[in-house]
Amino acid sequence: MNQNTLSLSGQVAVVTGSSSGIGRACAIYLAALGAKIVVNYASNREEGQETVDHILQQGGAAHLVQADVSKEQDVQNLFLEAIQHYGRVDILVNNAGLQKDAPFLEMTLAQWERVIGVNLTGQFLCAREAARLFIKQAEADPKAAIGKMVMMSSVHDIIPWAGHVNYAASKGGVHMLMKTLSQELAPYKIRVNAVSPGAIQTSINEAVWSDPEKYQELLKLIPYKRIGTAEDVAKAVAWLCSDESDYVNGETMYIDGGMTLYPEFADNG
Ligand code: NAD
Repeated sequence: MNQNTLSLSGQVAVVTGSSSGIGRACAIYLAALGAKIVVNYASNREEGQETVDHILQQGGAAHLVQADVSKEQDVQNLFLEAIQHYGRVDILVNNAGLQKDAPFLEMTLAQWERVIGVNLTGQFLCAREAARLFIKQAEADPKAAIGKMVMMSSVHDIIPWAGHVNYAASKGGVHMLMKTLSQELAPYKIRVNAVSPGAIQTSINEAVWSDPEKYQELLKLIPYKRIGTAEDVAKAVAWLCSDESDYVNGETMYIDGGMTLYPEFADNG
C-alpha cells in the first residue's frame, strides 16, 4: 500500500480572514505542509502581518493582501495579487466571517446585509474567482483535482440559532453554495467541501469562553466536554485540501466534539 503523508508542497493557498482565529490557524498549518500562503485581512493589517511573520519564522512563504471579501473589486484584486506574487492558486479556504447578533424583532437591515454580505456573498465571490483561475491554469490531463475549495460553515448550517438569524441563514446558504458548486465544478476536476466547526475558542465567541459560568453552560452542549481549538479545524481543512481526500467532494465535516449529536437527549431515553 502507498502510505503518503500530507503534503501541499508547491501549491498556493488563499486563506480569507487569516489575520486571526481559525483562518490564521489554517494559514499556519497549510504553510507547515508546504503551501505558499496568501494571507488576507479586512482592516487589521497588524494582525495580518502577525500571521505572515509566524509563517516566515517557521520557514514558510506568505504574502499579505488586504481585501473585504464582500466587495467584488477587492476579491478580484486579492486573486490578481496572488497571481502576481506566486503565479498560480491551487487552494481556497473560504474562511472570512462575522456575527452581528440581535433578536429577530430588533434586527436591522444593515445587520442582516452585513452578515449575508461577508459570510455568503463573500464566499460566492471568492469561489467564483478561484474556480475561474483553477480552470485557466489547469493542465490537459491532471492526475488529481485541479483546484480545491474548503468553505468555512458552522454547526449553525443545521442547528437553528435564535438571536442570530442572519448568521444561521448565511451558514445555511453556505451549505447549499458548497453542495451546488461541488456538483457544478466536479466535471472540471475541482473539489468543493465544507467544514462546520462547533464552539472553537477564538475572538468571535470570547464573551462565552472568557466567562466561567457561560463556559460551563457551553460545555453542556458538547459531549466531548472541551471547547475546540482553531488547530482542530485547521487539521481537517488541510486534509480536505490535500490529494489524500481526492475522492471527497460535496461533503461537510462537523468539527464539533459532538455538538450536532443532540446532547440534551443523552440521558433522556
Ligand atoms: P475571528 O473573528 O477570529 O476571524 C474572522 C476573520 O474574518 C477575521 O480575521 C476577520 O478579520 C475576517 N473578516 C471579517 N470580515 C471580513 C471581510 N469583510 N473581509 C475579509 N475578512 C473578513 O473568528 P473565527 O472564529 O476564526 O471565524 C472564522 C470563521 O469560522 C468564520 O466564518 C466563522 O463564522 C466560522 N466559525 C467559527 C466558529 C467558532 O466557534 N469560532 C464556529 C463555527 C464557524
